[in-house]
Amino acid sequence: MSDLKLVGKQHRDHKSVIKVGNELVGAKELCFIAGPCAVESAEQLDEIAKGISELGVKFMRGGAYKPRTSPYAFQGLKKEGLKLLKDASDRYGVKIVTEVLDTTLIEEVYPYADILQVGSRNAKNYSFLKELGKIDKPILFKRGMSSTINEWLLAAEYILMGGNENVILCERGIRTFDTSVRNTMDIAAIPLVKELSHLPIIADPSQGTGQRSLVTPLSLASIAAGADGVMIEVHNEPEEALSDGFQSMYLNTMGDMIKVLRAQAEHSGRTLNLTKEPQTV
Ligand code: PEP
Ligand code: MN
Repeated sequence: MSDLKLVGKQHRDHKSVIKVGNELVGAKELCFIAGPCAVESAEQLDEIAKGISELGVKFMRGGAYKPRTSPYAFQGLKKEGLKLLKDASDRYGVKIVTEVLDTTLIEEVYPYADILQVGSRNAKNYSFLKELGKIDKPILFKRGMSSTINEWLLAAEYILMGGNENVILCERGIRTFDTSVRNTMDIAAIPLVKELSHLPIIADPSQGTGQRSLVTPLSLASIAAGADGVMIEVHNEPEEALSDGFQSMYLNTMGDMIKVLRAQAEHSGRTLNLTKEPQTV
């Protein structure tokens, strides 16, 4: 694969482990991130944060700035959403994963995020990626919906080149000829990226499939293929969600999902990074 320097195995022959405070991504325990597509209100976020933290989840996702296909769709609560994430983090002790949309927002999002998410639509925004190379917090770097694996890894190279080696790759499905699913989850990308790069890679089967019923099976497949974790969309009322409700898990099914994923992880000598053992359901 051409031109891979910092991201490639030749730069580092052991797996990179990314520190997120006192948590590790890329180590033996799989990272489990859950939360709504978008932060919508104090009540919505509180219910979700409470629900997932009771299940032992340590990382909560939630978009305050949303990259929407339609300019008329809900764009996120912006700064207010960031504050709600911070409140939830303080109350429930969850670490925050939230998207930064462009260079002008890095400074604003930085203090609120434990991991800054860079979305699929920014996967080739090279000037933005260079700026992310200058910060010291972990970046969750989604694959572009039309990026080849080589293009994706070279794009990650821009972040590392700037000095920030805390990059977690995230497979979130690609565009193919098949329109029966929102995206085609590229499971092969997971072991292939592991052959080519030392960086951790997680999977986002929520964007990857666009369909709630497919999220657990594709999470299982991702873990079986060697992913370092999964990021899952979950909502207290998916039917009322302001974005991506159709692919969001019901909060009251998260416990079941965690049990199944944990069993799969243990099958390959790993486990999920949770604060407690999943309860029997
Ligand atoms: C998301 O995580 O809600 C999102 C918008 O993801 P992507 O950039 O992969 O579409
Ligand atoms: Mn989403």
